[in-house]
Amino acid sequence: MDLFEYQGKQFFGSFGIPVSAGDVVETVEDAVAVAERLNYFPVVVKAQVQVGGRGKAGGIKLANSIDEVREHAGNILGMDIKGHTVERVWIEVASDIAEEYYASFTLDRSAKQHLGMLSAQGGVEIEAVAEENPDAIAKIWIDPVDGLTEAVCREWVAAAALNPEATDGAVDILLKLYRAYVDGDADLVEINPLILKPTGEVHALDAKVTLDANADFRHEWAEYEATQERDEREQAAHDKGLQYVGLDGSVGIIANGAGLAMSTLDVVNQAGGKPANFLDIGGGANADVMAGALEVINNDPAVRSIFINIFGGITRGEEVANGIVEALGRVEISSPIVIRLDGTNAEEGRAILEPHLSDKLQMQPTMLAAAATAVELANR
Ligand code: GDP
Ligand code: MN
Repeated sequence: MDLFEYQGKQFFGSFGIPVSAGDVVETVEDAVAVAERLNYFPVVVKAQVQVGGRGKAGGIKLANSIDEVREHAGNILGMDIKGHTVERVWIEVASDIAEEYYASFTLDRSAKQHLGMLSAQGGVEIEAVAEENPDAIAKIWIDPVDGLTEAVCREWVAAAALNPEATDGAVDILLKLYRAYVDGDADLVEINPLILKPTGEVHALDAKVTLDANADFRHEWAEYEATQERDEREQAAHDKGLQYVGLDGSVGIIANGAGLAMSTLDVVNQAGGKPANFLDIGGGANADVMAGALEVINNDPAVRSIFINIFGGITRGEEVANGIVEALGRVEISSPIVIRLDGTNAEEGRAILEPHLSDKLQMQPTMLAAAATAVELANR
């Protein structure tokens, strides 16, 4: 789950990381009201879109007066930045910048450790630094069991060769950033730029945060959840609590378990077709879940056939079959369905489906045969 900058700053702030005072608004009048309340100039007017390079695209402007706030907010609200429409701007007290740094933590899956990156060359895209001057990025791998100690953090900051004046402030922020990353259940926390002010203070000027949605039960993330950008199909699936990813093919897929759903994508490809989605109904799917899944796929105009691939483990075949029959009674399905049902109590399940079979509802004994049929129906 990706956060907007203003949410990332709120998230950082809750872990004690210094960020600039500011507020988020959706209208020019509110932007003016925030600037009046901050009672400080200049302020920065910042487009809130989940894409980098906002500055270059004209989405970040300094305003020296209320009139300039009005002008910049007016220009930036509604602006298109790399395909993202600006619906909100963040207004904050501007900072004096002596130097710009880069700092982040993320997961290095292959190393099975956390990866911290720190560079004295911040403010620009880190990918460009990595390409042109990889030695300018100090990397640190952290065993999650050991965590990040202050001593190790100090060595890391020394390796990055920041201005010595920034050392204490940087160590303090990096330790807090690590806490935010671990305790906050983030997959990524990034500050670019992390700035050194002429006064010697170190401060986060930007915030990029990706939260691990699997941990949402541990947190109060409703506000972040509310602003997630999803396409219509993804939103409908999300509202029904389904694990769904929209794709651009024509074979709709329902499977139980993420592993089987992924294999189903492969088999559809192998049969020469293109999946319209990835949809995992999980274990113990009942009629409600099956009806919801069929509804989501049915509402996708690109879908030409539906492939239901079930391998019962804990999920029992007759329950899945009852679910499908009940769902068919509730939802008017426009595309033909092909079912492959195997595993626990598959025979009982097939017996339940048997009387309902037709051109619109076919059954195949194997995954590959079912995929081939679904692809053929989609291409008809
Ligand atoms: P991004 O381009 O989308 O990553 O947006 P950032 O928030 O990182 O801002 C881009 C650049 O704008 C920064 O690297 C700064 O150089 C500049 N900038 C942002 N806020 C301020 C500020 O408060 N004062 C000054 N002087 N420059 C700022
Ligand atoms: Mn930035």
